[in-house]
Amino acid sequence: MPSNIATLAAKPSNKLTRLFTTIDPEISNILQGALANQEVSEIQGLLLFATQGDELEALIETADLLREMAVGNNGSFVTTRNINFTNVCNMGCKFCGFAKRKTEAGAELLSFEQVADRAEQAWQDGATEVCIQGGLHPDIKGDHYRNILKAIKTRVPDIHIHAFSPFEIWYGALKSRMSTKDFIQDLIDHGLGSMPGTAAEILDVEIRKQLTKDKLSTEQWVDIITTAHQLGLPTTATIMYGHIDSPIHWVAHIGKIRDIQKQTGGFSEFVPLGFVHYESPLYTKNNHVRAGPTFDENIKMHAISRVMLNGWIDNIQASWVKLGPEYATQMLRAGVNDLGGTLMNENITRSSGGIYGEEMTSAEMIEMISRVGLNPVRRNTLYKTLERYDAPQQINTNYSVSINPNIAALSAQKNNIDIVQLPYSAQAKKQEQSVGAV
Ligand code: SF4
Repeated sequence: MPSNIATLAAKPSNKLTRLFTTIDPEISNILQGALANQEVSEIQGLLLFATQGDELEALIETADLLREMAVGNNGSFVTTRNINFTNVCNMGCKFCGFAKRKTEAGAELLSFEQVADRAEQAWQDGATEVCIQGGLHPDIKGDHYRNILKAIKTRVPDIHIHAFSPFEIWYGALKSRMSTKDFIQDLIDHGLGSMPGTAAEILDVEIRKQLTKDKLSTEQWVDIITTAHQLGLPTTATIMYGHIDSPIHWVAHIGKIRDIQKQTGGFSEFVPLGFVHYESPLYTKNNHVRAGPTFDENIKMHAISRVMLNGWIDNIQASWVKLGPEYATQMLRAGVNDLGGTLMNENITRSSGGIYGEEMTSAEMIEMISRVGLNPVRRNTLYKTLERYDAPQQINTNYSVSINPNIAALSAQKNNIDIVQLPYSAQAKKQEQSVGAV
């Protein structure tokens, strides 16, 4: 995927130019090299994860400039509805707070009609996409996935269906006794428009084994994703970090995503997903598991993703569901250009104790993006601009993510995910209304 970067020259601000002359020369060289379109290696990425103070500030400013060079000053979002068609799953991934056994209270499996009803309602409410994922229900047949697509497309032919994680693809193919290639092709033939690159967690054999009991191995994840790309089906790419992992796994993961992108060009975006620990069995049942990433780690993850994927993946997304709206907004000036979906019925993170609600309105997205001086745009799933908005209020056009001293102090503590509970009135209201959100 060629980047826009070649057509624009890097123009570091005075502040960044000054930082380049005063910070550690090794960090300065890495960042200036990135601005000159040189690839940042995994080892160099590791050095960037160790930055503090002025070095960290230079990293953030560089990521912000690379974002501008790649996609301009637009900040985007997509109107989408999440439909989790079942929460029944026997796979037992240790980090998962979403899955239930089928006899457990609250277990559900939506009918095809119910899925289509929700998609139709989303379309009527202005959504251009439905995002469909579910547990690996022991009773569903392999054609369940195809039938979901058929039910939606019969009712709402023009909605984009972004659906089925590589784990679901693996499961559906197994149940259908088909190769994953044939299974994916069949789904494409029945209206699948793109796939979420979830279930990647950390693409490290040992860490992954501990998280998922190796039910979908790193090799299988890579194989399913590359097969989808080869069939012309775009996917997103994700990382779930801040549990039993460390920066060495993060840079290797980003490097692997970059390698796949070099081969296929099929990733539309990269989405860092911080581990939400509150009700995750991985955290509640193990003393050695961290309570999610720190503030510094979050900001570095987004900035370094931009720097390492520069020239290969133009869109870096911040998940407001994981980070909270205030915090996700800050990432827009640290390499991120997209805030993801409005969602409507986000369930997976909420089930692990996520505290930021189920839905964000377009007006809230526009406000968040314009607040940091970017131009709000609504996009479709594959990043075509659908609508531009006049910023309702340019609150701060020179927004800079210099490290807030209070947050920096908190981030020095190891397990400090509570710092993401920054004030945000609309979300706070939703939180109160959201049953079981905490
Ligand atoms: S993460 Fe997905 S596959 Fe794993 S237990 Fe949860 S629902 Fe099942």
